[in-house]
Amino acid sequence: MKLFATLSFGIFLLCSAATAAEPIAIVTTTADIAAIVKAIGGERFAVESIAKGYQDPHFVEAKPSFVRVVNRARMLFNVGLELEVGWLPLLIQGGRNPSLVVVDLSQGISVLEKPSGPVSRAQGDVHALGNPHYWLDPRNGVIMARRIAQELKTLAAADSALFDQNLKAFASDIAARRKRWEEQLAPFRGVELVTYHKEWEYLMKWLGLSIVGYVEDKPGIPPSPRHLEELVQTMQQRKVKALIASNYTNPNVAKSIAEKTGAKLLVLPTSVGGEETIRSYGDLFDTIVGKLVTALK
Ligand SMILES: [Zn+2]
Repeated sequence: MKLFATLSFGIFLLCSAATAAEPIAIVTTTADIAAIVKAIGGERFAVESIAKGYQDPHFVEAKPSFVRVVNRARMLFNVGLELEVGWLPLLIQGGRNPSLVVVDLSQGISVLEKPSGPVSRAQGDVHALGNPHYWLDPRNGVIMARRIAQELKTLAAADSALFDQNLKAFASDIAARRKRWEEQLAPFRGVELVTYHKEWEYLMKWLGLSIVGYVEDKPGIPPSPRHLEELVQTMQQRKVKALIASNYTNPNVAKSIAEKTGAKLLVLPTSVGGEETIRSYGDLFDTIVGKLVTALK
């Protein structure tokens, strides 16, 4: 009898191992999207991000290992608005995966700096369809999470209730933290800043900080000496307190401008994994807000 019980228990274990579904492969272009997919999809999915959080997401090398990841994935989430235009089409083409579902998360986002006239990339502008850095407003993160939950349900309908529950938890965690972030930066509303790349508009608009100049006069293009001269003048006249650069920017130009103008150079992460301690989407804003408060005090 005892032997029989052990045997049936063993058979039960074998069966449950066989029926437990394999995680479904998902690929994301950025680490922020990967973090949100993990928060919503939990163990049901094996998620891999192509760009690491410390890399410039406009310029990623389309390595053969990424082609294999795209080849195996069921779904691909991307930022869109041509953020990944320099490398994602190559990976999708190379991945030869006709059943891959590609989800552009910019749909449903209120895009800033949308061009009103015909789009021209003549001068190499990397933001030709509008500003793609929308994940840097936590309210957009919640919109992305909603869309992700909806899409994940199409891959694993049986787990829909779990995804809804995770979405609810994610949204309420971000809402609670957002209240704290807004309170922390409330004393600095209207403060004028200069940024290196045009990637902080969503964040600053949310927080009520004002961007009065850019090191890059055209996004993605090295600044001309004349533009830099004018920028230094503006910063001196307006007594701009801080110059913000992302942690993937070469700091030399930013450093010299900061030195000339007396502004503080504030290097901020733009993505999950941008610093070792940033493991979740919420962590990203904890770090950014903390550093902003310290610099503006
Ligand atoms: Zn950009």
